[in-house]
This record gives sequence, structure tokens and C-alpha cells, in this order.
Amino acid sequence: MSSIFFTPGPSQLYPNYTKHLQTALDNQLGSINHRSESFREIYKHTDKELRKLMNIPDSHAIFFAGSATEILERMILNLVEKETFHLVNGSFSAKFFQFAQQLQKSPNAYKVQEGQGFDISNIQIPNSCELICTTQNETSTGVQIPIKDLVELKQRYPSSLLCTDLVSTAPYADIDYNLMDSAFFSVQKAFGMPPGLGVWIVNQSCIEKSNTLHKKGFNQGAHHTLASFVKNYEVFETPSTPNVVAIYILGKIAEDMNQIGIEQIRQTLKLKANMIYDFVDHHHEISPFVIQSEHRSDTVAVINTQNPAKEILNALKERGLMIGGGYGSLKDHQIRIANFPATSVSEMSHLLETLGSIL
Ligand SMILES: *Cc1c(COP(=O)(O)O)cnc(C)c1O
Repeated sequence: MSSIFFTPGPSQLYPNYTKHLQTALDNQLGSINHRSESFREIYKHTDKELRKLMNIPDSHAIFFAGSATEILERMILNLVEKETFHLVNGSFSAKFFQFAQQLQKSPNAYKVQEGQGFDISNIQIPNSCELICTTQNETSTGVQIPIKDLVELKQRYPSSLLCTDLVSTAPYADIDYNLMDSAFFSVQKAFGMPPGLGVWIVNQSCIEKSNTLHKKGFNQGAHHTLASFVKNYEVFETPSTPNVVAIYILGKIAEDMNQIGIEQIRQTLKLKANMIYDFVDHHHEISPFVIQSEHRSDTVAVINTQNPAKEILNALKERGLMIGGGYGSLKDHQIRIANFPATSVSEMSHLLETLGSIL
């Protein structure tokens, strides 16, 4: 029996994934040269469809790396001389902070308890912080940063670079890239693809900062430096041999999503998110982990359970429904439900009915 995955990544594959993979194989894309015109056309197409879907302006370039975690490191190596500032409220934002420590920068953090959002007006960021690191959707705790808060950060601190982790929300989050210097995601979450591709969006300010650090002689690593991405991007190539098949399929899925329209996709996701949180409100055995509704993630719902989470996960699994377990200290009594475009409204209602019957 095949299952439906409501796991927060890797997750359910997008309905057309198999068709696009078959086309890629029929066209022998696993074997084509990555410095050929065929590859450049694929890169150009994926670039074009992502720009349309996510409203990415020409001021920003789009690069392909191995994973989002790789991009965390590249971001710090390429854009930071000394100081970063991190908004930390879960495992992924904490990892970004740790990477800055491990790379021997001087990271500052504003931490809140897991499950809480940020009161942006309370956060003071020293002007010496070169890069402000945010996680728009903290997958471990199901907390999102409202877009208007990201806008406020950039307006208050225009001289620092601002970046955001969109891994478990792209293309849902409606980012204003005029106020976002860099963003990144990987494809095994809301794009419904197998893991193995990271996407890095950067503007000219990031590229200039990286050039300045290079001139000052800073060690920016060797592989996938921002300069090498920029140079190759001029001809729609990549520094090393990339995941050509995944880049192709990402472009096709973005094209499929563009045909539906991003507004429609957002509406459907919002509808499904409301279904989840309404369901939680109506069952006294469970409660939302994130108390304030404006901080509740639309794409990853984290739910406290009275019964051990393992029992719930196993009972659902026997019925062909896979959801995520909790993270960190509360993991024995938490479940996570991903709300990505690959699952339909009727599949979501099937999940919630089944969950209701086993609680
Ligand atoms: C999954 C996830 C990552 C890590 O992505 P990889 O592709 O495994 O590197 C980073 N940040 C967030 C918010 C995530 O959900």
C-alpha cells in the first residue's frame, strides 16, 4: 500500500513529479553535459518560472547548491566579515547561529522560547551586524515570522543585509524582494521533490559585499563561492556539475504552479491550514503549540498531544498516512503536519478525519 506523506520534508511528491521525471529520462537529461546549450536552456527556464512564481525581480540572481544547509554556510562565509544577528526560536534558526560560531564569526542572537514568535519592535540590532539571519518558517516549532515583520526589520536596519530561510514555505511566503537581500530554500518541502537541491537567491548588495571581503583577503571557502556562482550565472552555468534532473523538474513544477497561479495556491494552502487549526480547536486531546495565531505557520502545524506522539504516528502509519514527529525537548508529545501544495483539500480532510477517529 502506498502512503500519503504529510511530513515536513522530505514530503509528498508533487502530483506531476513522476511525469516530469519520465520526460527527463526520455530526454537523457541524466547524461547531458552541464556546459552545453541544452543545460543552459534548462537553467534559463527554471530561472524564469521561479521568478514568475515567487515574484523575484531582476535585481536578484538565482543559484543552485546542494542543499539549504550548504547555503547557510555559504551565506556566512561569503557575506560576513565578523558579525551576524540571528532570530532564534527553534532548531533550524539555532543551526544558522551555530554555523556562524563554527566559522569563527561573532554571532549575536535574540532567542525566544520554542513555540513563541518574535515581538519585532523589542529587538535592537547593533549597526555593526552585517547580516541579519531570519527563519521565516521555523519547521521544528511551527512558528512563522509575519512578512510585515521582515519588512519592518529591513526598514529599521537598512544598512545590514537581511536574509531569510524559506525552506519549508517557498513558494507560499509572499516576500517583497526589494526589502530582502537574500533568501533560500530546498526542494523536498513545499515543492514536492526528492531532496538534493538548494536554491539561493541573492541581490547586488550581497554580491558587492562578497567582492569587498574578497578584496580584503577574507577566506570565503573554495567551493561555491558567491563569486564563482556569479561568474557561471552569466552564461547560465554552475561552478560544478549540478543536479541537472532536479533543476529541470523544479522548473517544470514551477511552471505547473504558475498555470494554477500563485494566488490560487496560496488560497488553497490557507484553506487547508484553517482546516488543521479548526480541527485542533475542536479536539480537547490536542492543542496548538503556537499560542498566538499570527505566529502560527500555515505550512507546518505543530500540535501538542496528550497521548504519546509515537502511538498516534503509528496508528496513522497503519492507515497509510505519514505525519511528522516532534522536535527537541517536547518531542514525545508533539506531532507535526505539513501543509504543502502536493496534498489536496480532500487528502487533508481524510487525514484529519482519521486523526479524529484515533485520538
Ligand atoms: C529542512 C530545513 C532546512 C534544511 O534543509 P536541507 O535541504 O536539509 O539542507 C533548513 N531550514 C529549514 C527551516 C528547514 O525546514
